Amino acid sequence: MTEILLKNADLILTMDESRQELPGADILIRDGQIDGIGHGLQAQGEVHDVSGCLVTPGLVNTHHHLYQTLTRAVPGGQDALLFGWLQTLYPIWAKFGPDEMFTSAQIGLAELALSGCTLSSDHLYLYPNGSRLEDTIAAASELGIRFHPTRGAMSIGESGGGLPPDSLVEEETAILDDMIRVVDAFHDPSEGSMCRVGLAPCSPFSVSRDLMRDAALLARDKGVMLHTHLAENDEDIAYSQAQFGCRPGQYAEDLGWTGPDVWHAHCVKLDGAEIDLFSRTKTGVAHCPCSNCRLGSGIAPVRAMRDAGVKVGLGADGSASNDNGNLMLEARQALLLQRVVNGADAMSAREALEIATRGGADVLGRPDCGRLMPGKRADVAVWDMRSIESAGSWDPAALLLAGPMQVKHLFVEGRQIVRDGHITTIDLPRVIERQNSLAKELQA
Ligand SMILES: [Zn+2]
Repeated sequence: MTEILLKNADLILTMDESRQELPGADILIRDGQIDGIGHGLQAQGEVHDVSGCLVTPGLVNTHHHLYQTLTRAVPGGQDALLFGWLQTLYPIWAKFGPDEMFTSAQIGLAELALSGCTLSSDHLYLYPNGSRLEDTIAAASELGIRFHPTRGAMSIGESGGGLPPDSLVEEETAILDDMIRVVDAFHDPSEGSMCRVGLAPCSPFSVSRDLMRDAALLARDKGVMLHTHLAENDEDIAYSQAQFGCRPGQYAEDLGWTGPDVWHAHCVKLDGAEIDLFSRTKTGVAHCPCSNCRLGSGIAPVRAMRDAGVKVGLGADGSASNDNGNLMLEARQALLLQRVVNGADAMSAREALEIATRGGADVLGRPDCGRLMPGKRADVAVWDMRSIESAGSWDPAALLLAGPMQVKHLFVEGRQIVRDGHITTIDLPRVIERQNSLAKELQA
């Protein structure tokens, strides 16, 4: 039995059913689970004095392309719209292999962890030069972060009228075979699971209708979740109407892509009927505010989604379209964008943090994460409120208005992976060096 006690927090934001905020409280962690929250708790093992700190659930990232940390701020893609941006980057990504996938995933996940993230999904939809999903699973496992990788795919290349070069697409039978392989090898459905695999054709414009339908059938058969990009911008809606004769929501519904086991990234252009569809079917949304700004896609109707009862989580999105990987900044940006559209009372800092924590956990089908309650997983972020960013803050619970934007300590399944602002589990300076040398090789 392992026990860890976090003692004397200035404030614990529990995100429990009644959103309790507990001043001067302790958290007792036992064997990866939260055992108790309250005052005057005692432990057998390690004790951390967290006075001067705010304690929250770990943040949850519902959409990312970790491999893209190797292509941040690429000159030809800095100012391009979505389709032009993809055409700039595809030839670079075509040079990737297992080492690039592993190293860039480790950088992306470590960056997320430093911003308070304890659970991240990833959407890997290209597998050049022998790359495999397990390259990223190994990166997450070494770091110690909870991971929901998705086996993505593209099957319509340039010669078939698609956008990606033929070298980056796969045969659909091979895609389905590999989906079965990675689910069987790596998916752990149990409570407290550190790795759950999902199925994720890249988008309706990069795979066939058959693959969308077959992936949905396979996911139901295996009991895993489904993920893709949907309704990202105006071009996306126009493409759906021209190619499929319907809006993206209808296309998704027709092919089995709605339900509590499905979440879609972006959904910037969902209309009222589609929001209603997502609400009725309990389909989730990964809101990626910085990426939407960066690519000029628009402002997702998050206020309307939340009011309609749609499950919404946050996504950093790939580092080729953000290019930052700080999830706390996403929470801040989500709040700012809703206020641009709907006024200063449209979203509170507490609601934005709720979306970033339990909101994301619910989108990923993880009611055991995203809240600090006895019996839930011990995924805990500790924020130093004596930092410069929060000096003078009257309300530490409004964390994302002021800061800090990086954690002091981070625990995943009760294991400390950030201590005093430093990653404990991997040699981060060495990984950064490796990443930079890989980026140089790609530029050559
Ligand atoms: Zn994306």
